[in-house]
Amino acid sequence: MLTDKEVLAALSGILKPEQVLWSAASMRAYDCDAYPVAHAKPQAVAIPETTEEVAKIVRWCVENEIPYVARGAGTGLSGGAIAALGGIVISTKRMTRILEIDIPNRRLKAQSGAVNRNLSQAVASHGLHFAPDPSSQSVSTLGGNIAENSGGPHTLKYGVTAQHILGVTLVTPEGEVVQFQSGVPGYDFVGLIVGSEGTLGIVTEAWVKLIPLPSTVRTALVAFANVRTAVKAVSNIIAAGVTPAALEMIDKGILHALKAAFGLTYHPDAQAVLLIECDGDPASVDREMTEALAICSDALEINVAETETERLRLWTARKKGIGAMGRLAPSIVTHDGVIPRSKLPETLDFIYTLADKKGLNVANIFHAGDGNLHPCFYFDDRDPQQLRSVGEAGEEILRHCVAAGGSITGEHGVGVEKMEFMRVMYSAESLAAQAAAKRIFNSGSLCNPCKVLPDQLGCIELKRGTP
Ligand SMILES: Cc1cc2nc3c(=O)[nH]c(=O)nc-3n(C[C@H](O)[C@H](O)[C@H](O)COP(=O)(O)OP(=O)(O)OC[C@H]3O[C@@H](n4cnc5c(N)ncnc54)[C@H](O)[C@@H]3O)c2cc1C
Repeated sequence: MLTDKEVLAALSGILKPEQVLWSAASMRAYDCDAYPVAHAKPQAVAIPETTEEVAKIVRWCVENEIPYVARGAGTGLSGGAIAALGGIVISTKRMTRILEIDIPNRRLKAQSGAVNRNLSQAVASHGLHFAPDPSSQSVSTLGGNIAENSGGPHTLKYGVTAQHILGVTLVTPEGEVVQFQSGVPGYDFVGLIVGSEGTLGIVTEAWVKLIPLPSTVRTALVAFANVRTAVKAVSNIIAAGVTPAALEMIDKGILHALKAAFGLTYHPDAQAVLLIECDGDPASVDREMTEALAICSDALEINVAETETERLRLWTARKKGIGAMGRLAPSIVTHDGVIPRSKLPETLDFIYTLADKKGLNVANIFHAGDGNLHPCFYFDDRDPQQLRSVGEAGEEILRHCVAAGGSITGEHGVGVEKMEFMRVMYSAESLAAQAAAKRIFNSGSLCNPCKVLPDQLGCIELKRGTP
């Protein structure tokens, strides 16, 4: 095992000294992501600028048997970017360049540290955009989006990140540089790498698909007197054959947080609001929005944006909802599960009752059209009892989702948080097949250990829950 001094000296030889962080304050800053209950301090943080620099660091880690993990903006919600067994965090924060814009072929190549929103901004004047839009898009990176196969409010119509990645440059867990393309003969390794949570290597560059911006967008915020009516409207809208571009639900807890944080007010009797957005050509937008709003006939209030400024104001509730919760408690754990949309009413009832039973505060803001729940528990993580209860509540919710025919994660990944819960979703044979697929790229335990698959060497202390 190398000492901190030896690690620092070696990394400063590979990179410039200012590309290596090692102070106690920096290690504290990098010891967790946006899943605030899992912490692990790295030995150092390397900040490469090119694929070749990433490859050199990885090769050095392999030679010296030091674990390493890629990190983008650290907004992941399942502990995926923590250095679970110590070692080196390889940050892509200086790999932010857009390398090529190919308008005729509607594609763009960028380094993996490029911020999601910057990709769309770079091609907006050509009437194009990169469709995946996680709510963290003002900071989260292309590499993080690829690793987590991120979704977002517009996933309902445009799909998740996997549908928008054309090719990647990958530094393999051994430090070789390889390139993969999707839609070409041979095995689809792009499909395997997207969503692999940084366990199959480090993506350094990617080609992404660009799609036209819709000519018309209409947005409405609809207030309901109770959550059940709101979520029933969601399943009725989809059942009627309307596919809005976005169909999001925000409950009273979040509305309360928005008032506390930003002074935003909504209908005083609203227990839930739905944000409905339709886009496309003017005629289909009119038809879809009319149908969707007709289904919301028992709403308390319907606000349809007349201007772009009003539209952005309606979106504030969704975009700032989780941030606003910072006012309510020192810590937030945002759980992530999927259920069939028809099970939304009973599952929401289950979540509120569970929180009451455990004496916890919960608020919900989620991609209702996809059945992708995000119960946010806000609490004081200095209180061990609250911490335990939040973990237990999360486990019960995940079991409920799987029993309802859904999944343990919709878009936040497995990370360290849900490794053990992979057993709830998959048979032993299925997990063994996934482990075999991982070994094609990652035959050791250095590249992002203790993530995704259970039963990894040295990861016992990171186990959560016992399915
Ligand atoms: C307020 C808020 C809202 C959010 N909303 C959404 C949402 O709507 N939809 C959604 O899907 N997610 C959402 N998230 C979760 C998170 O933003 C996404 O998972 C995002 O894609 C993570 O990107 P990042 O750059 O922060 O990655 P990080 O958190 O730094 O890393 C996440 C994982 O990706 C790996 N990784 C990072 N870069 C690379 C790379 N170059 N190569 C290989 N692996 C890499 C890491 O090792 C880690 O396992 C939200 C998070 C927050 C805090």
